Amino acid sequence: MTHEAPTLAGRLSQLVQVPTVTPLDGGPLTTSTAQVFDDFHALLRELYPTVFAAAEVTPVGRAGLLLRLGGTGDGRGVTALGPVLLMAHQDVVPAPAEGWEAAGWSHPPFAGVVEDGEDGLTVYGRGTLDDKGALLVLLEAVEDLLASGWTPNQDLYVELGGDEESDGPSAVAAIAELERRGVKPVLVVDEGGAVTTGLVPGLTKQVAVVGVAEKGVVNLEVSVSADPRKPAHSSTPPRRSPTAGLGRALAALERHPHPSALDDIAVRMFTELAPYVPGPLSALLARSDQLRPVLAKVFPYVGAEMAAMVRTTTAATMLTGSAAPNVLAAKASAIVNMRVATSSTLAEAIHHVEKVVTRAVGSALAVDVRVLEGHEPTPVSPFDERWDAIRTAVAASYPGALTVPYTMLGASDARHAARIAPAVYRFSPLYMSSAQRASVHGVDERVTADSLVKGVRFYRVLLSGIA
Ligand SMILES: [Zn+2]
Repeated sequence: MTHEAPTLAGRLSQLVQVPTVTPLDGGPLTTSTAQVFDDFHALLRELYPTVFAAAEVTPVGRAGLLLRLGGTGDGRGVTALGPVLLMAHQDVVPAPAEGWEAAGWSHPPFAGVVEDGEDGLTVYGRGTLDDKGALLVLLEAVEDLLASGWTPNQDLYVELGGDEESDGPSAVAAIAELERRGVKPVLVVDEGGAVTTGLVPGLTKQVAVVGVAEKGVVNLEVSVSADPRKPAHSSTPPRRSPTAGLGRALAALERHPHPSALDDIAVRMFTELAPYVPGPLSALLARSDQLRPVLAKVFPYVGAEMAAMVRTTTAATMLTGSAAPNVLAAKASAIVNMRVATSSTLAEAIHHVEKVVTRAVGSALAVDVRVLEGHEPTPVSPFDERWDAIRTAVAASYPGALTVPYTMLGASDARHAARIAPAVYRFSPLYMSSAQRASVHGVDERVTADSLVKGVRFYRVLLSGIA
């Protein structure tokens, strides 16, 4: 196997050209979608023959694959402790196959165009960053190691999800299968953070941000209803209507956000960045542990991302009420999507909403807060030899880059793994500029071939060091 940039770019281009657009519901795949994933699996087998010859392959969920590479069991290094699980997903979010130019793409999203531009050789297309680029570098590294005669000392599992983007069942099924087999991975790596720049003003170094926890998610239905014994008509409206009551409730949620706090993960991130940040900000970040209360108060005013970092967030999304212009709603409701801080719990977050909306609506109307679905924030992964192994692999592949932890604000497949594994790190070893980060789920998604070369090195070093 060669890991030269043009070869890797060419292989990623091939992966992009199979449009594995995520199935949106939890039901069975349509015949045509199943065919696309079959084609993708065939391509993976063709590109990574050694991996697929050596692995025991189990289909999981919809289009997911769970690979097991048996270990020699001679227990060297960190994973004398147990098996390793590496995850990446095959599916991608939709992109316009027609009208892509009008949508702002420079190239057709599923053409896998490779272009030599100002950032060097670059692969364009849906999935290049999320998550086919990461899937490629992972499989390249394993293929290469196996071909050179390497075998893992403990079992190595590779889970290739089929429906991460639609929060589908394949990762759940894979974890359930591992649970059934009694497998307890000592280390899990899945998508999440990346190598980036411009994280903090004035910081010029590259920074590998590695997700060590994920916020919880819960959807609530907040409903406000009128007394059904007192029907009202829109020509004679009552002083307090459910629709306006709901409006007051939602406005109150904006006015009374959840309390903010700077957690240990953020403190660790800032103190590690501090020495490389110029000017007075450096001293401030270096003291972030002592300054927790102040920073927690200031951050929400800096921007939405900083606010989300220090507190549980609430966002009103879907609204329902009256069905006609002249009909008063007997009940008005909203879905409130919450992202729960790792230092909090679902119960605490829900209690806050109940308290705020009940007070805002008043006693003339009935308020109901119903929990639709949710999951708790994940535990925080340890900063032990496993964290050091990640850090070593980053240093070997992105020389000079810093490695810092962060909390993932969104939800990923990795949260399912957190149930059976204490150490889950969410990180794609790819460089993403801020423009590239914006291209994930957006327009002109692209990755440089140089970053693919480095990504392969990351997994090679990680695996040869630990597995
Ligand atoms: Zn993804």
